[in-house]
Amino acid sequence: MRVIVAGARGKMGQEVCKAVRNSKKFTLVGGISSSGHPIEGVDVYTDLAKAINDTKADVVVDFTIPSAIETNMEICLAQNTPMVIGTTGLSQTELKEWQVRALQENWKAIYAPNFAIGAVLMMKFAQEAVPHFEQAEIIEYHHAQKIDAPSGTALRTKTMMEEVSGKAIPTHSVRLPGLVAHQEVILGLPGQTLTIRHDSNNRESFMPGVLLAIEKISTIKGLIIGLEHILFTDI
Ligand code: NAP
Repeated sequence: MRVIVAGARGKMGQEVCKAVRNSKKFTLVGGISSSGHPIEGVDVYTDLAKAINDTKADVVVDFTIPSAIETNMEICLAQNTPMVIGTTGLSQTELKEWQVRALQENWKAIYAPNFAIGAVLMMKFAQEAVPHFEQAEIIEYHHAQKIDAPSGTALRTKTMMEEVSGKAIPTHSVRLPGLVAHQEVILGLPGQTLTIRHDSNNRESFMPGVLLAIEKISTIKGLIIGLEHILFTDI
């Protein structure tokens, strides 16, 4: 599969370029950077539509910024190019609207607020635990440059927990140098608490999930939200 990485100069984009280059199944055919600065070993484009046309890409992997993501989605939808989306910052309402459009227009995309397998399990376990507790809160910790808060992972965990419990789950965000991406879900009952914690200590942690999403993209229908749908079900 021929892969374009949007946000190729960013912290996640660089790691994705490396993972795609090292994979035997995929070929890195271009990187998108809004500044157009060169990137070692990647043909850099500033125009996503032109990049897709020139490279005949099969999939666009997007790790950019919240203000760029919907424009990139419009371009990929117009060209019917599937997308693997890691950029966070879209609201649950926006994601739901994109899900409807994707089905209507027969466009494939996988959006995962967290591609780390352990984080996906943390969300699943939190959803399983929440009906047994009176209250629960989510604390997410990220590096100081992260633009959006709460994180996409915290919002997804909150939605998953609220769906089964019917209770509002508060979220708290910590931004500090030295952190990468971490989350705790704390559930409480009189006399006891249960804490479920996941730590991404480096960005390599997200790569198996990203590569799995690229591999599965041609087999899905519409916009899938959450890696759990391709991790735990055989599509
Ligand atoms: P980052 O280091 O700031 O990288 C973002 C990159 O996007 C920048 O290098 C910027 O570079 C580029 N960019 C900005 N506008 C663009 C556009 N219109 N088209 C193409 N590229 C553009 O951020 P990061 O830490 O890599 O995170 C990127 C996103 O991934 C964030 O939303 C973050 O929350 C999310 N994230 C998701 C996961 C997950 O598992 N889903 C994990 C970690 C992070 P130029 O301006 O030079 O192009």
